[in-house]
Amino acid sequence: MIKKYYLLSPGPTPVPEKVLAKAALPIIHHRSAEFSDAFMEMTEGMQYIFQTKNDVYTLTSSGTGAMETAIVNLLSPGDKIITINGGKFGERWGQIARVYGIEVVEIIVDWGTALSLEKLEETLKANPDAKAVFTQLSETSTGSVYDVKGYAEVVSKTDAILVVDGISGLGAAKCPMDEWKINVLLTGSQKSLMIPPGLAFISFDDKAWKLVESSTLPKYYFDMKKARKSLAKRTTPYTPAVSLVYQQAEAIKLIKEQTIEGILEHHAILGKATREAVKAMGLELFSKVPGNILTSVKTPEGVDGKKLVKTMQSKYLAYISGAQDPMKGKFFRIAHLGYMGAFDVITALTALEMALLDEGYKLELGKGVAMAQKILREEWK
Ligand SMILES: *Cc1c(COP(=O)(O)O)cnc(C)c1O
Repeated sequence: MIKKYYLLSPGPTPVPEKVLAKAALPIIHHRSAEFSDAFMEMTEGMQYIFQTKNDVYTLTSSGTGAMETAIVNLLSPGDKIITINGGKFGERWGQIARVYGIEVVEIIVDWGTALSLEKLEETLKANPDAKAVFTQLSETSTGSVYDVKGYAEVVSKTDAILVVDGISGLGAAKCPMDEWKINVLLTGSQKSLMIPPGLAFISFDDKAWKLVESSTLPKYYFDMKKARKSLAKRTTPYTPAVSLVYQQAEAIKLIKEQTIEGILEHHAILGKATREAVKAMGLELFSKVPGNILTSVKTPEGVDGKKLVKTMQSKYLAYISGAQDPMKGKFFRIAHLGYMGAFDVITALTALEMALLDEGYKLELGKGVAMAQKILREEWK
C-alpha cells in the first residue's frame, strides 16, 4: 500500500491547504510596517475567537508556554492557587506552579468526570487566600469538556481569578471570554486553530491585570508587561514566528467565513456522528462529559489497547491517539477538531473497525461507519 498518512489526533491537527501555502511566502522583516499590518490583523482575529475586547498576546511557543506565562505573570513566591486536576493537562498546572514555589491546592477529579460547582465553591471557601483557580476548557487527555461557564460564575463571586487553558477547546467548544467573565484565557495554535505547532495566545481581563502588576515571580521571555508595551506599538517584544503569523491570519479568515457558531455546529455534528458510531460498534465512551473536540472510547474487553492504537497508527496510518499514563491501553482518542471534515471521521471509524477486527474484537464491518453516515446525512448543513 502507498503510505498515505491520516492525522486524526487531537493536536497537531490537519492544516488547510490555503493555510499551508502561506508558509511558502518569503520571510519579511518582523519590524516592517507590512508585517505589523498582518500581525494586527491576526491579533484582532484572535479577539474574535476569544470573544473578548481585551488584548490578546501572541507567544512564540507551544501551548505549555502560555500556561507557564499565566503562572509567572499572575503570581508571586508563596502564593496559593487551586488547580482542577482531571487529567494530564490539569496535572500540568500543578507541576508548573510548584516549580515556581507556589502552594497548590489540587482538586483531584476522576478522569472523564466533571467537577461539581459545589465542590469548587467549598474549596474556595476553605482557601479564601487562593489567588486563582486554574482549569482546562477541554481536558484533552480524557476527552472531557468542563463547565467553564459555571466555574466562572463561582469564581467571579470571590477575590480569586479563573484561568482557563483553552488549548484544543477554544475554537471547537463554546467559550466566550467576556460574556462568561473568564479572567485569563489561553490557547495554542496546532489544535482547533488549524495551523502548525509554534504559536500560543493569552488574554487577561482587568481583574487579572491587577495580579500581573503585583507579580514578582521571575520572568523574562514571557513577561506580559513587555508584551503589552509592544502590542501598543503593533508588535511583539522578540522575533515572532513570522510564517506562523501569516498562517494564523489565513486560518482565522476561514473560521470567520464559517462564523464561530457555524464552527461549533460543525464540531457538534462530527462529535455526535463519532459517539453514535462507536456505540453502534458495541463500544463504550470513556468520558461521562464528552465534548465535540475528540471522542475517548474504552478499549473493549479482550483487546490489547496499546496494540489496537499501534495497529491504527502503524498498519493503517490512521494516527489516532492512545490514552496517556496511568490509563495507557484503557481507552483511545479519536479527534474531530480543527480542519477535520465529515470524511475524516469516516476514515477514522473505518480504520477503527478494521483494527478492532485485527485485534480479535468481534464486530460486523461497516456497522459503526453506517451509523456515522446516517447521522452525517441527516445533520448535513
Ligand atoms: C495540547 C494541550 C496542552 C499542551 O500544549 P503543547 O502545545 O503541547 O504545549 C495543554 N493543555 C491542553 C488542554 C492541551 O490540549
